[in-house]
Amino acid sequence: MSANKQYIYRFGSDATEGAADMKNLLGGKGANLAEMCRLGITVPPGFTISTEACTLFTEQGRGVVLELIREQVLQGVAFVEAQMGKRFGDATNPLLLSVRSGARASMPGMMDTILNLGLNDQAVLGLAARSNNERFAWDSYRRFIQMYGDVVMGLKPLSKEEHDPFEIIIDTLKQKKGVQLDTDLDAHDLQELVQRFKSLIRARTGHDFPTDPWVQLWGAIWAVFESWNNPRAQVYRELNDIPASWGTAVNVQAMVFGNLGTHSATGVAFTRDAGTGEDLFNGEFLVNAQGEDVVAGIRTPQQVSLVGSRRWAELALIAEAERASLYPSLQELMPDLYDQLLHFETTLENHFRDMQDIEFTIQEGKLWMLQTRNGKRTGAAMVRIAMEMLEQGMIDETTALQRVTPDRLNELLHPVFDPQALRAATLIARGLPASPGAATGQIVFFADDAEAWAKAGKAVILVRQETSPEDLRGMNAAKGILTARGGMTSHAAVVARGMGKCCVSGAGAVHVDLKARCMRIAGTDYAEGDWISLNGTTGEVLLGRIATRDAELSGDFGKLMALADKYKRMEVRTNADTPHEARMARSFGATGIGLCRTEHMFFEGERITAVREMILADTEAQRRKALAKLLPIQRSDFEGLFEAMNGLPVTIRLLDPPLHEFLPHDDGNQRLMAADMQVSLGKIKLRVEELHEFNPMMGHRGCRLGISYPEITEMQARAMFEAALNAQARGFTVKAEIMVPLVGTLREFNLQAAVIRRTAAAVFAERGESLPYLLGTMIETPRAALVADSIAAQAEFFSFGTNDLTQMTLGFSRDDAGKFLPTYIQQGVYEHDPFRSIDQVGVGALVQMAVQKGRSVRPDIEVGVCGEHGGDPASVAFFHRAGLDYVSCSPYRVPIARLAAAQAALLG
Ligand code: PEP
Ligand code: MG
Repeated sequence: MSANKQYIYRFGSDATEGAADMKNLLGGKGANLAEMCRLGITVPPGFTISTEACTLFTEQGRGVVLELIREQVLQGVAFVEAQMGKRFGDATNPLLLSVRSGARASMPGMMDTILNLGLNDQAVLGLAARSNNERFAWDSYRRFIQMYGDVVMGLKPLSKEEHDPFEIIIDTLKQKKGVQLDTDLDAHDLQELVQRFKSLIRARTGHDFPTDPWVQLWGAIWAVFESWNNPRAQVYRELNDIPASWGTAVNVQAMVFGNLGTHSATGVAFTRDAGTGEDLFNGEFLVNAQGEDVVAGIRTPQQVSLVGSRRWAELALIAEAERASLYPSLQELMPDLYDQLLHFETTLENHFRDMQDIEFTIQEGKLWMLQTRNGKRTGAAMVRIAMEMLEQGMIDETTALQRVTPDRLNELLHPVFDPQALRAATLIARGLPASPGAATGQIVFFADDAEAWAKAGKAVILVRQETSPEDLRGMNAAKGILTARGGMTSHAAVVARGMGKCCVSGAGAVHVDLKARCMRIAGTDYAEGDWISLNGTTGEVLLGRIATRDAELSGDFGKLMALADKYKRMEVRTNADTPHEARMARSFGATGIGLCRTEHMFFEGERITAVREMILADTEAQRRKALAKLLPIQRSDFEGLFEAMNGLPVTIRLLDPPLHEFLPHDDGNQRLMAADMQVSLGKIKLRVEELHEFNPMMGHRGCRLGISYPEITEMQARAMFEAALNAQARGFTVKAEIMVPLVGTLREFNLQAAVIRRTAAAVFAERGESLPYLLGTMIETPRAALVADSIAAQAEFFSFGTNDLTQMTLGFSRDDAGKFLPTYIQQGVYEHDPFRSIDQVGVGALVQMAVQKGRSVRPDIEVGVCGEHGGDPASVAFFHRAGLDYVSCSPYRVPIARLAAAQAALLG
């Protein structure tokens, strides 16, 4: 830190100091403003205060930072004054400024912004005279006081049911005057609002609203720095893995006005469709308005392009004549400016080679660009844009692969409404298709309720008049979001798309009554807790709960997956226990089953009775009798799996969980079981007691069961070999792999291996035919990893059970860690949930060591992973680096793992 260090970077005309590659220092917004200037795009001049100043502010406070940047800020303002030919604080020709946050990663709406800064009782008169528009001047002034009062002076609603205190004043005045819209208020009314706002501020804070523009400016700068650590920004950072150490930059920029009359406008646009990915320039604007009006969803905006406008009207059921007269597109209204905007958007997309989200303002016929950034988009749009840009030659294959965040594929794989159920559904309202998908849930009206209900396992739809950044957690917890106001670029729409969450916005027929906790649509009330469904693809709001079905995958998705397969080294298998799951996973591109948990086959239907007979058996003979009943059932299950995976490996694991899991623990069900099996209640209770364990996860499970009762292993092995031969006889190609769970010593493996080999030999002899198979082990106890070389002498493959390996390495019970893990993550003990994303330095080190030891003894040993981590992109990257042959994950995560494996291979 030094007094000479540069903290301020100018932009505007040829004096621009920053550039797009300076995002770490200037934030995304500042860097791109500078880049736009370099591209010859008209941008209001200004300067960016660097993120380094923010970090110093957080660490050392405003006094230190003020000393360091005061002089540079003065020079920055002088630069803007010179560029605009106006003076800051001048009574006759005042320069007004906007002060905006802008971090390295975009955090839409999370931090603070102040517009129209520099106005006071004198400057407002100057502005009125200069613009020859008294109403505009007073409107700007009241907006400024409102924003500054909220952001810098902390005037917020007093409770969650209360509305914004400034809006209450506006509404009261409108009622008194008998008018509906803000635009119906005249200059005199606005002047009155200014007085009332100031009184409110004085009454609530005990301070006068600052009249000195420099006091205003410094207040705004500090407020933006402080907003980096406001609760909603913190939540957003948490959800998006953004480090607190980055800090935000502050952009101080000359104001341009979209609210100077009918030749002025302001808007937001996307170079491609952020919902579907279609290559169509689209966006929204409002005539005679300021930027915040478009995103705040207060008025229903018009569409930028004619095509977009017509599509919008169709969805909103507005006739063409009405559309053309009341809601014309910018293309129709201001054709020359539209052409210029089109030129800018093309320039920007070609320059950044990615879909851009842009903000613009038209001031009395002149177009100004206020922002450009890579646009947030749905998972579907992400895939389509990447593949189309590849086809258009804008990006290469490796860039296309890296453009898609693997986890976002989730949205493409998830269910849509069942068309039949949808046809029978009752439409209750229509809004804009803000973020595609299908959602069904119970209505809640407050974000905190959404969170609480979701935590209690309920599916909820968050219904709001409009959303604000405070609602973030609730939106994240909800299945879908419905808003009464707001367009396609409203906060709700933008954030929902970013989260890949279904959202219908601007459903005008919806009236929300927060106090009564109900919404009224066409005279009917829908209360908190009622079920509704949202179709984010069409904008429909439907009554009740509607059935969903699996999504169909688009052509671009297939192309992306093919590209991923071209670059990935690891195979992706699936964890599947039924032929249905196996087929689904195969359709998602799984090239084998990495884990069949046979215990899942024990739970279903009638089988549980045979399993319970086995558990209640007092002698081996009785146990074998029960097992004989299970044999044909298991055999046919395995046949189904082998046939579904024809030609691909199928890894079957011996029974793993403790036996008490198969017995009822409550009196009622124990009585039912006793009656069902014709045994005494006492016998059941006794067995439950005998099987009771203090720590079942560390108890009598895995190979410990098979070693105690080898006849169970024998039955499972027989079922598998007979099924394999049967499937083979029917013309299927079977690649069977059988694995022993929870091994910690070579002896454990050998004891089970002997039973399996003996059974294989017996079945092959009986049938007079045989087939090759692999016999391997899971590596899921730390000891197994430590002695992996000795185990590899006998085991033909390793499959890392990272769920148990994590549990035992960290000493965290899989069942109980939920109680303290959130605190641990918050306190930074672990960066992520180690059961979701592998603890690379700890558990990962064991994996690396076991791979190395295994290969040192058996160089071609097949090594995979079948714990939950097999579907987590960061873990997949780690397994790639550790040299694993495959990952195995649940069917829905197969495409995610394929893409993650390709991205890992690209990183090397
Ligand atoms: C594991 O422990 O990682 C594993 C796959 O086995 P399970 O989850 O069935 O214990
Ligand atoms: Mg396990």
